[in-house]
Amino acid sequence: MKKVKIISIVGARPQFIKLAAVAERMSFEPFRKTFLHIIIHTGQHYDYEMSKIFFQELNLPEADYHLEVKSQLPSEQIGRMMEGIEKVLLKERPDIVVVYGDTNTTVAGAISAAHLKIPIAHIEAGLRSFRRDMPEEINRVLTDRISSLFFCPTKTAVQNLKREGQTKNVYFVGDVMYDVFLSVQKCLKQRQILNTLGVCKKHYLLMTVHRKENLRMIKNLIKIFECLATLKETIIFPVHPGTQRCLNEAGCDVKKFKNIKAIKPIGYLDMLYLEKNARKIITDSGGVQKEAYWNKTPCIVLRDETEWKELTTSKCVILVGNDEKKLLSALNKDCKIHRYNDKIFGNGNAADKILDKILEWSYLQ
Ligand code: UDP
Repeated sequence: MKKVKIISIVGARPQFIKLAAVAERMSFEPFRKTFLHIIIHTGQHYDYEMSKIFFQELNLPEADYHLEVKSQLPSEQIGRMMEGIEKVLLKERPDIVVVYGDTNTTVAGAISAAHLKIPIAHIEAGLRSFRRDMPEEINRVLTDRISSLFFCPTKTAVQNLKREGQTKNVYFVGDVMYDVFLSVQKCLKQRQILNTLGVCKKHYLLMTVHRKENLRMIKNLIKIFECLATLKETIIFPVHPGTQRCLNEAGCDVKKFKNIKAIKPIGYLDMLYLEKNARKIITDSGGVQKEAYWNKTPCIVLRDETEWKELTTSKCVILVGNDEKKLLSALNKDCKIHRYNDKIFGNGNAADKILDKILEWSYLQ
């Protein structure tokens, strides 16, 4: 029987994690026999700490094609990605292209496939912040408009698509990041990262910031750091390269804030361990919000809205925007997670469900 040829297109840190769920399932029967899986890495993230470490830690197969596009202005980056992706798609002629999440890589992959009339499966379809000034929102809305199969991580995402008139081939499968989160728990027993950083369980905060809304207003972000510097608690801050660039341009050296320990981005396993053991997390990341919930660590989000609105009802996640007063008050609040429900994001078998549906769909073609 002819195998179904799938091309996964990834390029940014959270996509390597999402890909890990799919690639792992693909290496077992019945999928090993039925699928031929090819991976394109666009090179959107390229540093060791932002890319290779995830391939190593998550046992990902090497990418079959590496486009090495690297970062530049968004339109130039998307354009160059499309150029490279199109060449691979023309050569490989896959049955379906799988894109993940909401990055420039996602939209570049989707548009290239659509032009060549190759069906697209979108993993993490239907998420909406309803803010068209967010690059991620533009990427996910465009990708959903031209996809054929929609794999939704939450029921809210299904509802969002329904509101936009999209009901065909829409599936609530759960979150592939939850699959990966569960599968690596056994590797998290003995990590040295707390010793290395000189902090103790539940006696530090963990912070990540990288969203364009926050980087565009770098002065506000620096004000937030100044406010955090009034605390006694240590704040571990793995700095995203984009954030580091903006801080450099603004002439801000985070080292001057004695309690903020700025470090390079860290690997996924250490990150999960730090999330689990932090007293609270401060972030604008989508993935980190969910992991905070799964780790039952209270999380303060430096945004005014979230695509993961189920989390705000759990009270695990508090939205503070870029308001320092709200941030301080949230940090001081004794916060208990209400009604923890591990089914919001599925059962940890999203990748299985996705591959089943793709297979079913391919029989009908
Ligand atoms: N992450 C990591 N190391 C870091 C920071 C984040 O491994 O130094 C992981 C984090 O645990 C989560 C993912 O990267 O799984 C989130 O990626 P990011 O915040 O870049 O993107 P977003 O989720 O906002 O799209």
